[in-house]
Amino acid sequence: MTLKELIRKVFFVEIVKGMALTLSRFFTKPVTRRYPKEKRSIAIGFRGLHALVRNPATGDAKCVGCGLCAAICPSRCINVYTSEGSEHQKVVDRYEVEVLRCVFCALCVEACPYGAIALTPHYEYADYSRDAIYMTKERLLENWDKYMGEDGARYFDTFWNPKDAHYKTPKGQAMFKGRIIGGFSG
Ligand code: SF4
Ligand code: SF4
Repeated sequence: MTLKELIRKVFFVEIVKGMALTLSRFFTKPVTRRYPKEKRSIAIGFRGLHALVRNPATGDAKCVGCGLCAAICPSRCINVYTSEGSEHQKVVDRYEVEVLRCVFCALCVEACPYGAIALTPHYEYADYSRDAIYMTKERLLENWDKYMGEDGARYFDTFWNPKDAHYKTPKGQAMFKGRIIGGFSG
């Protein structure tokens, strides 16, 4: 052992250096966040949990059951079940998303001609059961109410730019062949 090494050992130089480094960190700004107390702000275009856009005029989903979202979904995780209504119109009985299979590509959002399906900024939906994350039509509509309030809707409108020309009608309703979607009021 050299004299230099001996001195370093006797005076615990390495330990002192380590402690000094630790102490210096008390006075520096942390680079981490105390999640979940502190959350990151979501970037525009963030793809979180799905929601079905609610038609404010009818209170029901804007979805018309065309199935384009299900057809384009690469994960095959969207299921749309429709039936024929009393006026021979298509009625969306069930709309379901198997979120655990979703890859959040947002192709469903892009494909929908009515801006009826959205990806919300919400990402904290871990649960103990698979059923809790299986999104039914009712849950998807609840997601719209919960996570796409005024700001969310504005963000959705701005970022995703729904293709339906009538999306921005004063009542916020989509139109299809002159009839109100969701209500089919004729
Ligand atoms: S985000 Fe992509 S994978 Fe997920 S439901 Fe939509 S199309 Fe399917
Ligand atoms: S969400 Fe849009 S694309 Fe999918 S079935 Fe409904 S209207 Fe069609």
